[in-house]
Amino acid sequence: MIYNSTPTVIRNGTIFTSNGNDPHGDGELHIVDGTITYVGSTHHAPAVQGSNTLVIDAKGGTILPGLVEAHFHATYFNVETLEDLDIKYPVEYVTLLASQNAACALEHGYTSARSGGSLFNIDVWLKKAISEEVVRGPRLTASGREICGVGGLMDWNPDYRKIGMDGLVLLVNGPSEATAAVRKLVKDGVEWIKTYPTGDAASPDMNDHHTLCMTFDEMQAVVTTAHNHNLKVTGHCRATKGIRNALLAGFDSIEHGTFMDDETMELLLERDVPVVPALYFEKASILHGPEFGMSQQVIDGHQETLDAGTLSAQRIIREGGRLGLGGDYGFAWNPHGDYAKELTFFVEHVGLTAKETLICATRTGAEIIGVQDKLGTLETGKIADILVVAGDVLDDISLIEDKQNLLAVIQNGIIKAGTLFNSN
Ligand SMILES: [Zn+2]
Repeated sequence: MIYNSTPTVIRNGTIFTSNGNDPHGDGELHIVDGTITYVGSTHHAPAVQGSNTLVIDAKGGTILPGLVEAHFHATYFNVETLEDLDIKYPVEYVTLLASQNAACALEHGYTSARSGGSLFNIDVWLKKAISEEVVRGPRLTASGREICGVGGLMDWNPDYRKIGMDGLVLLVNGPSEATAAVRKLVKDGVEWIKTYPTGDAASPDMNDHHTLCMTFDEMQAVVTTAHNHNLKVTGHCRATKGIRNALLAGFDSIEHGTFMDDETMELLLERDVPVVPALYFEKASILHGPEFGMSQQVIDGHQETLDAGTLSAQRIIREGGRLGLGGDYGFAWNPHGDYAKELTFFVEHVGLTAKETLICATRTGAEIIGVQDKLGTLETGKIADILVVAGDVLDDISLIEDKQNLLAVIQNGIIKAGTLFNSN
């Protein structure tokens, strides 16, 4: 990414570094050549060199690391039914929508995102377009198409339709096909392999949230092949056995991690595998599902998922585990732009403090992606991906939900969005 060579000073705000230190009131942060060169109090700040310095007044608000969407679906577009995910639009149109969704995420304060699966190979190319400044968006970690067992959650087109699932998933029968699917993705240029070890409340008849959609042998084949090529593996894991299989197979993160017994929780904590619960999606499904014709059976399944997922998330944080935040925005009832509702939900309903929630949404997100040495906290020497919010976010985290409260979304030291960007 290109950086701004104009030195920048952000002052008159509370700095939340996400590195575990207490927030600094009257904080100041310096950026030179896209890198943070000072974080601390205005009182101790060194003089800034150069007469052309850009000064950003945080107006008594909060200065924090750019947010990380840990489970981003760039290609989801007002999805109402599972079929909307694959055959609704041609790839050309979905690519345009994905570009728009990426800009939307950046405008809402998300400077990085990890793809949770993409139609075709769109996220790989979207990543390139973002990193070359062709379009605006979060720094993207791509996963391309997903892997699922034949007949599993993501295999809904019956054979008589003769349309396959080629755009969305690689369907596998047995470990050798799982290996072949990963090898195909390696050539596409992905960084993560997204799998479907279990079903979901969305498919109550054949692949509900307690159903397995891949065998242990298939999952192990995915991990062995992916790790051989330096790729990481994650999976949609709701059922207890699916989570346990993923941990035993060596997955690098778990999406959802819903139904966990003591043994599975112990294994998760022992291996320190991060989990991305994506809980607000469940809440939004329960709240707004009826407007979209969702059956009571599906809504009940989402409620069961929400209750168990909340308990698991609470245990993970209280027992020293790690959570990334984000998840499954792009459905009709959970649209792009609502990403920060996840943060509010974790404070108001899961019971995390605002500080814990922000650390999950920044530092842990960077750890999951594997860029914690460069991003995720505000520290000297790190890349200047920063969010400046009007108001005290530690007192009211829901301020982040409204993009009108974002004064500046800074990526590589450049203001890319926020009210200061719009007023330029
Ligand atoms: Zn997802």
